[in-house]
Amino acid sequence: MNAISSPSTGAYRIVDHVYDVVVVGAGGSGLRATLGMGAAGLRTACVTKVFPTRSHTVAAQGGIGASLGNMAEDNWRWHMYDTVKGSDWLGDQDAIEFMCREAVPAVQELEHFGVPFSRTEDGRIYQRPFGGHMSDYGKAPVPRACAAADRTGHAILHTLYQQCLKHKAEFFVEYFAIDLIMDEEGACRGVMAWCLEDGTMHRFNAKMVVLATGGYGRAYQSCTSAHTCTGDGGGMAMRAGVPTQDMEFVQFHPTGIFPAGCLLTEGCRGEGGYLTNSEGERFMERYAPTAKDLASRDVVSRSMTIEINEGRGCGPKKDHIMMHLEHLGADLLHERLPGISETARVFAGIDVTKEPVPVLPTVHYNMGGIPTNYHGEVVRPTADNPDAIVPGLMAVGEAACVSVHGANRLGTNSLLDLVVFGRAAARRAAEVVKPSDFAAPLPPRAGEKALDRFDALRNAKGGTRVAHLRETLQRTMQSHAAVFRTSQSLEEGCGKLRDLWSGSKDMSVSDRSLIWNSDLVEALEFDNLMANATVTMEGAFARHESRGAHAHDDYPDRDDKTWMKHTVASLDDKGGVTLSYRPVRMQTLTNEVQVFPPKKRVY
Ligand SMILES: Cc1cc2nc3c(=O)[nH]c(=O)nc-3n(C[C@H](O)[C@H](O)[C@H](O)COP(=O)(O)OP(=O)(O)OC[C@H]3O[C@@H](n4cnc5c(N)ncnc54)[C@H](O)[C@@H]3O)c2cc1C
Repeated sequence: MNAISSPSTGAYRIVDHVYDVVVVGAGGSGLRATLGMGAAGLRTACVTKVFPTRSHTVAAQGGIGASLGNMAEDNWRWHMYDTVKGSDWLGDQDAIEFMCREAVPAVQELEHFGVPFSRTEDGRIYQRPFGGHMSDYGKAPVPRACAAADRTGHAILHTLYQQCLKHKAEFFVEYFAIDLIMDEEGACRGVMAWCLEDGTMHRFNAKMVVLATGGYGRAYQSCTSAHTCTGDGGGMAMRAGVPTQDMEFVQFHPTGIFPAGCLLTEGCRGEGGYLTNSEGERFMERYAPTAKDLASRDVVSRSMTIEINEGRGCGPKKDHIMMHLEHLGADLLHERLPGISETARVFAGIDVTKEPVPVLPTVHYNMGGIPTNYHGEVVRPTADNPDAIVPGLMAVGEAACVSVHGANRLGTNSLLDLVVFGRAAARRAAEVVKPSDFAAPLPPRAGEKALDRFDALRNAKGGTRVAHLRETLQRTMQSHAAVFRTSQSLEEGCGKLRDLWSGSKDMSVSDRSLIWNSDLVEALEFDNLMANATVTMEGAFARHESRGAHAHDDYPDRDDKTWMKHTVASLDDKGGVTLSYRPVRMQTLTNEVQVFPPKKRVY
């Protein structure tokens, strides 16, 4: 054990480790990467702030997309077309091609790993329709979501964890990663983490660090994601001088239970559920005559918001919409949607076999994240190379922006993204990291900056509690970066966040201990939420068009001439944002598919 000095409190106890790879995060993406790295013979550690099977992936309900064609004819090219269109032409087409092709072997691999998928009569993997997934280039909905009832994420996460144990992966459970260790050339050399149980600090020397830390839904007041989804990876990356990409694209899921926010999977509508307004009208038929209730999420969320804004919301305050499942019958609900039946009973007191459930669009997914190529390598654009990679750093899963989801993710494509790119990252790491290589010593004073920041937060002696600051942040995001945005609401939002950066200097952390200090964990998470929220708001303010999840009332049309490009955002330590842009990759990997040029939005 070593000691490292910090300005205010003197020495912290440091435990040093050397690994080939350190994966930060044990959700679906982190576990799939860990598994692959280990199998490739790389000495791999997986660091996670919660027990692996408590990661948010466990909550995924509806399914994982793959054109297996078990229930109706399907083709990965159709899946690719839907994904490009769903992304509103902001997705990178090489990465999308890669994902949709790899989907079939990736799901088969999960089946072989032991994922207990639901089955068809003849024993094949059961597939259900999902929003935006169509056959024959957009003609009619196709069942493409491979499901384990409505607990698909649970089934996948537990299976991947068991596989990791089988392959003897090394876990550091309940260790909070604080910051990356970078060298002078801008390469990543490792990561600093705090052991929540005994208060020791851990300095990992790694040839490759993989950020798999999930999304930042908790920047909003009402979201479907776990309390742990605080964008720690994005925060760490931006503090290390690595930008984030397309952060203004935040997905609202149409059916969060009103008012609790918990998710009712899109699989509900996939199984035949539908939405009505206060007049009992199935209004989606007006907005999306073909796909109806299965139009992509941005379309359904916006349609619901318009219904409410125009006075056709349900309930005494006309502030929600109804989802009907009762016509599906108790047997089907019991077999295919047991989890959501329970969720509706617990959180809304509703028996879905008898009455409709009140729902409202709720923050669900972050399309933006740390930019990567389709091998999972992190990209930091330079003046002459928009695709320059950061040596020693990868990102996968919701923390990353590869970008297969572009401006709007299709349901079931995230679980797919986790396993496809978790696997791809492992393959690439096996090529670039040599297990036999000597581990170069860390740069002098490695980790000191991380400890200084940690120490300053631990000793924050101001007058405002973290919970109060976080609530102000969440309210600001909820009302200023919502389903519909205007220049005025975004500008006010930017101003409020700037005030909050100044206000957070007055933070108070009352518990100074190093063991199970949840006050300090929340302070670290708040710091990361602030970083992610700020680039989200500034990116949204700058984007003068409407595309995918970014619906700008003052610029209602998509503007491909000016805006078909990725936003790249850097953040300084005072909350200042610098935006630049990077082209969308329209070239495909092979000549087996056509490039899909932008089309007008018709749903
Ligand atoms: C309710 C719900 C239902 C969903 N349903 C579906 C679905 O049916 N189909 C679909 O495709 N997608 C679905 N999604 C989306 C999908 O589940 C998520 O995008 C995906 O699971 C994210 O996985 P991940 O591996 O990126 O991160 P997560 O599963 O969120 O895991 C993040 C990991 O990072 C670790 N971590 C974070 N910060 C730190 C830190 N500072 N130090 C150490 N460790 C850290 C955590 O401990 C955790 O292990 C759903 C999402 C939600 C919220």
